Formats: sequence, structure tokens, C-alpha cells
Amino acid sequence: MLTIGCHLSCSKGYANMAREAASIDGNTFQFFTRNPRGGKAKALDPNDLDAYDVLAAEAGITRILAHAPYTLNPASNKEQTREFALMTLADDLARMEVATPGQLYNMHPGSHVGQGSEVGIQLIADTLNQVLTPDMTTTLLLETMAGKGSEVGGTFEELAAIIERIDLDEHVGVCLDTCHIWDGGYDIVEDLDGVLDEFDRVIGLDRLRAIHLNDSLNPRASHKDRHARIGEGHIGFDALAAVTMHPKLAHLPFYLETPQDDLSGYAQEIAALRACDKGSHQMSH
Ligand code: FE
Ligand code: FE
Ligand code: ZN
Repeated sequence: MLTIGCHLSCSKGYANMAREAASIDGNTFQFFTRNPRGGKAKALDPNDLDAYDVLAAEAGITRILAHAPYTLNPASNKEQTREFALMTLADDLARMEVATPGQLYNMHPGSHVGQGSEVGIQLIADTLNQVLTPDMTTTLLLETMAGKGSEVGGTFEELAAIIERIDLDEHVGVCLDTCHIWDGGYDIVEDLDGVLDEFDRVIGLDRLRAIHLNDSLNPRASHKDRHARIGEGHIGFDALAAVTMHPKLAHLPFYLETPQDDLSGYAQEIAALRACDKGSHQMSH
């Protein structure tokens, strides 16, 4: 069975996210650990977490993905900005060990702001080497980026270079965003197998732990990062459904980050992708 869900607001707590995920036939979800622009995280509520455990079990949710604030920049040229990223990452990872041990935590690697990707890669690795601990149960994921501006992580090579410099790399994986890699130039419409072969050669498919499933408003290699609803962009429904059903990817959790007015938009996307998945299984039996 497909593990699929969407990005949910964490403002009403964990139990509410499990409820919302279940209401749209999701069996996973993504959430921001705090205000996406940074700021202080809300105190954990033990009652909320107890209620969450019950609701998640009922909904068959075993895998969830936390997302770091997207403004964190460990590759900044400002010491204060790097320090803020370090403190926030360390705090988020500590909270995850308490609230949701054994889960996934995704971050945007950072932007080198003109220092060059080589410097950016080293600064990101330096930060991660300070926040990863031998006994952590969370897996930290680096997200594939669209290569907008001075973003680091717009190529598989840049992510591989970061991971190579991390000491405790057994705690590190990758989250592949379909909109981002399409905008970055990878042709998942005409040659998904080729893209996955390249991912495997450069990073290793064993590092791939989650997929952000998004269509793109822009043509391939546009380096824009503007998400579209599934089937309403340049990637298209068939190519994105093929991603969810690919034998090398089907076991992974998938997260919709598509622009929607409310949860019903996600419910429709999940239903369409689940229908496709079930159809393909019926054909093969
Ligand atoms: Fe992201
Ligand atoms: Fe994403
Ligand atoms: Zn994006």
C-alpha cells in the first residue's frame, strides 16, 4: 500500500495532524517543527502526544516527516545566521527524540550567498557535524533543491559532497522533491530510470528516504521552484504517478506540497494516486 500524505499545519498539535491525515486517507504527513520562518517552538504537550499515538496507530501512520524552518541557512556568510541555524537544528533534533523518536527530519541544505558552492558545502557539513549525535534515532534528510539563486543542493553531486564530509553519515539521508529536481534539470518525465540510475551512482539509492511529490509550474531546468497541483504543471499526472509506482521508490513515503485551498484538494490527489496504484497491482495479478 502506498504511503502518502501531505504537508499539514502543526498549529493545533500532533493529535490533530493524525486526525487530519486520516480524514484525507493519508497514512503519513509532513509538518513544520516551528514557524517556518524560524522563531520559538511550542512546548511539547504530553497529553497531545499520548492522543497522537492512539490516533496514529488507528490511521496506520508509522512514518512521519518533520520539516525544518526553510529560512535556516547554515551556509550563510554571517556568523550569527549560521549560529541560529545550528541552535535551531540542535533544538529540533532534541525535541524529536522526545516527541517522535525514530522519524525523519528534512532540511533545505542552505544558500551560499555568493561564497561559492564549495564554501557552502563545507559550512553545511560543519554545522551538521555539530548537531548529529551517535545515539540519535532521527534520520536527518537533505532536500534536493531547484538550484534557485545560490541554493546548495541543486545537483546530486552537491548533496553527495555534503554527505561525504559528515562524520556520522549513518544518520543522514536524502528527500527528493520532484518539482525541485525537474526545475534543476533532471528529466523525470522522459527518463525516470536514467535519473534514478544517476541518483544511485552519485548519492546511492539507499540514502533516499522520502519523496516530496509536486508538479511544477515551470519547464524543466527553469531553476524556479514554483509548485503546482498534481497534473496541473509541466511534469504531469502520469509521470508523478509513475514515480509513486516505480519499483525502486514504491516503498518510500510520499508527501504532497501542492498549493491547495483546503484539505479536500489533497484528498483528491491522494485518491487519484491510490486508484492508480491499486489499478497497477490488479494488472499484475
Ligand atoms: Fe522543503
Ligand atoms: Fe519540498
Ligand atoms: Zn519547493
